[in-house]
Amino acid sequence: MTLRDVQFIFLGTGTSSGVPVIGCSCDTCTSDDPRDRRLRCGAAIRFIDPEGLPRTIFIDIPPDHREQSLRHELDRCDGIFVTHAHVDHVYGLDEVRRYNSLMREPIGVHAEPEVTEALHRIFQHIYARQDNRNDSFVADLFDVALHPGAAVVLHGLRVTPVRLLHGRLPILGFRLDAVDSAGVPLSEQPDPLPLAWCTDVSSVPPESWELLAGLKTLILDMLRERAHPTHMTCDESISVAERLQAEQTFFIHMSHDFTHRQLLERMPPGMAPGWDDLILGEGTNSDL
Ligand SMILES: [Zn+2]
Ligand SMILES: [Zn+2]
Ligand SMILES: [Zn+2]
Repeated sequence: MTLRDVQFIFLGTGTSSGVPVIGCSCDTCTSDDPRDRRLRCGAAIRFIDPEGLPRTIFIDIPPDHREQSLRHELDRCDGIFVTHAHVDHVYGLDEVRRYNSLMREPIGVHAEPEVTEALHRIFQHIYARQDNRNDSFVADLFDVALHPGAAVVLHGLRVTPVRLLHGRLPILGFRLDAVDSAGVPLSEQPDPLPLAWCTDVSSVPPESWELLAGLKTLILDMLRERAHPTHMTCDESISVAERLQAEQTFFIHMSHDFTHRQLLERMPPGMAPGWDDLILGEGTNSDL
């Protein structure tokens, strides 16, 4: 048996400020189009595992996680994969305590060792619970170390960490493939796999291109029009997507520089800006 009924959910597609930006009256921030409201960047993959059990795995836990979870009625967490420890990607970690109560199990936080260290520093009340004055309701987490190129298999899903550069900061993207019981990728992957989530990237280092080959779905950072030291511009993202040639590409981590409609007009075939609550997979709402 293999995993089935995959749903990949875009929980948030906005840059670190979110869109609308506080106190901004630009066209994007005042737009009526719900696709111009972008929560901070994160994703969930839901599926039925090879034993027939429902599973939900998160990529990043942004500060908007609670709202995102409620919208999609998420009620479990079978693992978290962290791209990097910036505020907009991890400051919702407190919220996963609710999945601990529902599941009565600890949750694995998969991250590079430096990211794990940062999480222990930021969330001392979780990781050094014994030091809390009162025993409070905190998350129950355990660490799993990730290394670029070293895949992890969870419940029939193989997650491969892919090295990306976020300015000078090395971070991770994640490639997802369905695998058989021996851990070998299925020749027929369920839609929308194989998929890669590559947020907060300014360049793809040489060793990573191969890990991103042959994708059905690429999801890639696209901050804004003007150059930025730690993110790709619209033109840069399109050119990386053209080189990778995924069947479909969606862009994420967008600022208020452009509305959804403006971006859509300039997209080559097979590419589109992502939006919050977009779900890819069997019988879902993607219309690319
Ligand atoms: Zn970010
Ligand atoms: Zn604005
Ligand atoms: Zn970042």
